[in-house]
Amino acid sequence: MSYDEILTACGLDVSSLQNGARAVHTPIDGSLIARVDDNTEDDVRAAIAKSQAAFEVWRKTPAPVRGEFVRILGEELRAAKAELGRLVTLECGKIYQEGLGEVQEMVDICVFAAGLSRQLDGKTITSERPGHHMRETWQPMGPCGVISAFNFPVAVWSWNAALALICGDPVIWKPSEKTPLTALACQVIFDRALKKFGEAPEGLNQLILGDGAIGNIMVESKDVPIISATGSTAMGRIVGQKVAARFGRSILELGGNNAMIVAPSADLDMAVRAILFSAVGTAGQRCTTLRRLIVHEDVYEPLLTSLKTAYGSIKIGDPLNEAHLIGPLIDEQAFVQYESALKAAKEQGGAVHGGGRALQNEYPQGRYARPAIVEMPKQTDVMRHETFAPILYALKYKTLDEAIAAQNDVPQGLSSSIFTTDVREAETFLSAVGSDCGIANVNIGTSGAEIGGAFGGEKETGGGRESGSDAWKGYMRRMTSTVNYSSELPLAQDIKFGED
Ligand code: NAD
Repeated sequence: MSYDEILTACGLDVSSLQNGARAVHTPIDGSLIARVDDNTEDDVRAAIAKSQAAFEVWRKTPAPVRGEFVRILGEELRAAKAELGRLVTLECGKIYQEGLGEVQEMVDICVFAAGLSRQLDGKTITSERPGHHMRETWQPMGPCGVISAFNFPVAVWSWNAALALICGDPVIWKPSEKTPLTALACQVIFDRALKKFGEAPEGLNQLILGDGAIGNIMVESKDVPIISATGSTAMGRIVGQKVAARFGRSILELGGNNAMIVAPSADLDMAVRAILFSAVGTAGQRCTTLRRLIVHEDVYEPLLTSLKTAYGSIKIGDPLNEAHLIGPLIDEQAFVQYESALKAAKEQGGAVHGGGRALQNEYPQGRYARPAIVEMPKQTDVMRHETFAPILYALKYKTLDEAIAAQNDVPQGLSSSIFTTDVREAETFLSAVGSDCGIANVNIGTSGAEIGGAFGGEKETGGGRESGSDAWKGYMRRMTSTVNYSSELPLAQDIKFGED
């Protein structure tokens, strides 16, 4: 399939994507695949007003009816899985299997949200006063602004949109400026689902294209009560403070620096497979990518030997070709950061295995990075930063306490895992003195979370939760109501106010 055919299969009109001011290049070979126009500040303000108007209607639509729309959206996404998955690969460079997996996550969250729409439940609470009861209800909040990162160009939108929509909140989406085409394709699918659904307000999901400055308009708008922002910690630090300054609600999903502990009792074959997917999948460009490997000294040599062999057999190349497991980095800047992290690691005492640029002759404009394992004498400064590339640092440990301390001794707190067959070690890792991350796994890797659980992390990862469990509460406001069905008016705390 040609690149134009991939766009066309997603319902995009290639002829209308020729003259925009923003050039979109595929990381596969650096070629120009489209030109899009950014939205203006006025466009964003108009989108916010439209979203507010849509909210007036959508909040009165019963939640299960809103859920029916999300169910149809899921069906449309399922039908478009192959086409949209291929476009994800073309635009952000992840391999086709991972492009498909990303779309599957979108389908899964729609199925989840459709069911949830019948269960937006609150508590009933006993009252201290006779003839009274208390209850909690969850109410829609208003427009939800979604800011997303390049590396999950479509799934992050769906995690937010599926929940926001069943909760009664219209969505305004600003995708990464590096991946506008997948966003445009999602809007086509969304509009198709709306047609099948029937009556719905205009502007239920709106796209605004542009860079951070365009996103900033909704970040600063009091008419967008929720901002869900996914991206770097540097972005979240700015966005989080601005939303807090206007007492808005933010859901922050920021950078990770994820570790795996491999204990002496671990199944090493399983560990190697898990490490490989977590560390080199998506060419190291997942927020949950495994970046630090903390291995017990008794199993360090055999594990590293197997790992180096496995790394040696991984095929790098065009991510649309299913023989390849690693595609390109997103752009030149990402490659520069990869090289400078490897240089810093060497300066800090690391021994680098692998690494360097691949396929330079074949793809002079593509940035293919060979995955690297770096054996470190201790946890140094470079290991405390997230480098969005396939670099895995390896360290030895002697005691579990020491391993957990090293794991937690970074500013980020997204994902973590332990490989062990010792139940005491596993449970300690999952206890109050164990991992300090939002995600802590046993005998699986750090990446590839299912949508059923709440997704997010602590510390500089931002503290937000999306996706499953009760993450939906982040898109609603909690109302506590006390109802008096007696003919008396007793005060709480037994207060007598002007009575005998
Ligand atoms: P980025 O921070 O460069 O950009 C992310 C988004 O924020 C883009 O849409 C960008 O335009 C927007 N943005 C930037 N500055 C802004 C501002 N001041 N106001 C409003 N919007 C602004 O991130 P990236 O390079 O696209 O993605 C990689 C990063 O995202 C990594 O750090 C990765 O760990 C993180 N990430 C986190 C999660 C998670 O769930 N925790 C998921 C995916 C990616």
